[in-house]
Amino acid sequence: MKCPYCEHEFKLTWKRYLKAPFGKHTCPNCNKKSKLNYTSKYFAAIVVFFLPFLIAIIFLHSSLVLTSVVKIIFLLLVFPMDRWAESKFKKLVPIE
Ligand SMILES: [Zn+2]
Repeated sequence: MKCPYCEHEFKLTWKRYLKAPFGKHTCPNCNKKSKLNYTSKYFAAIVVFFLPFLIAIIFLHSSLVLTSVVKIIFLLLVFPMDRWAESKFKKLVPIE
């Protein structure tokens, strides 16, 4: 992530990710606040991530065990995936 004020680059760590459920981050260099804005690439990444799970659940709906396994895998991956997509496809913008 790049600070929109001072151009300082910093990583979206788990600590930062979990402390900022609404995507507001404080730059470790200049201490100014900015927030991550949504981009179409971020939404595309989310859709690409969700689709296989949705398809798997539709096809496996007759088996409770298999759909449960798919749901557990989904829950294990959803936060790492979202954190990755946030740092990769969202951009920090100044907060007015
Ligand atoms: Zn900064």
